Amino acid sequence: MKNYRYTIGVDFGGTYVKLALVRFEEEAGYKIEGYSFFPTKEYSREALIEQLVIRIIKLKAKSTFKNHHVRGIGIGVPGRVDFNRGMVFDLTNVPGWKNVCLREILEKKIKLPVYVDNDANLMALAESKFGAARGYKNCVCVTMGTGIGGGIILGGRIYRGKNFAAGEVGHISINENGPICACGSKGCAERFVGSRYILEEAIKRLKRGAKSSVEEKLHGRYSNLTLEMLSRAARKKDAFSIILWQEVGKHVGVLLASVVNLLNPEVIVIGGGVANAGNLLLDPIRKVVKERAFSVSSRELKIVSSKCKEKAGIIGGAALALTGR
Ligand SMILES: [Zn+2]
Repeated sequence: MKNYRYTIGVDFGGTYVKLALVRFEEEAGYKIEGYSFFPTKEYSREALIEQLVIRIIKLKAKSTFKNHHVRGIGIGVPGRVDFNRGMVFDLTNVPGWKNVCLREILEKKIKLPVYVDNDANLMALAESKFGAARGYKNCVCVTMGTGIGGGIILGGRIYRGKNFAAGEVGHISINENGPICACGSKGCAERFVGSRYILEEAIKRLKRGAKSSVEEKLHGRYSNLTLEMLSRAARKKDAFSIILWQEVGKHVGVLLASVVNLLNPEVIVIGGGVANAGNLLLDPIRKVVKERAFSVSSRELKIVSSKCKEKAGIIGGAALALTGR
């Protein structure tokens, strides 16, 4: 019989909680063998935990059926976590989760080791073990959505920092007098390159009279504008959209040049909804990082798209349960 190892990965997102039974095999990497999800917002905290337990037990039964035992559960949450205690300090966009000892609650009910970590850390772990940064020891993973998250892998392990708050690349300021950020600082990168701000900026320019082919689809309803529309238009040579993506790429490049000078990583992986723009975003990022970071650090640096994509959270959680760190 092959040496399979099973764990369960949970991606606790603001919109959906997704979980899967994952099989690991020495050479072949991983395989997802059972998958389940439910909407986050429809459940209170207690009901959500109950729902999670029911589904974890179902997935666990699936592996027992194959004569294998699940080794543990790894959960990524959108917020700050005391990793050593498995305690959630609070969650972004999910109310009612202040100082919750999620590990303790779940371990009592499931009788398996449970690990809880920040979702961006687990995405970075997934990319470094099985994705775009596989084979490298030092990498930074940036997830670009409404917010900008970051995870740092140093020497093959997640770097969490003293208070488990490391990797907040979205809150590195790129303009000391810039707009105020939700974190209280000014000019954070997130305020320039988060999906909401990119759309806000585009709409502001269109309302001021800028011309773009995206307007044909909007019929004056600016709130229908999406990042997908802006990248499609840019690929069809719409000057407005091309300039916008170049600006976003430049901001990210300025941010990442600082990250490169600080950490000198081998790879930077970029994921999340904004990264679906692909090379429209990556090319200007690479150019600006080359221009601004120390050449000794940027010469062999790779800046690439996420490979695990929307599965990164689950795979990262499952990988964490495998190693426990
Ligand atoms: Zn901030």
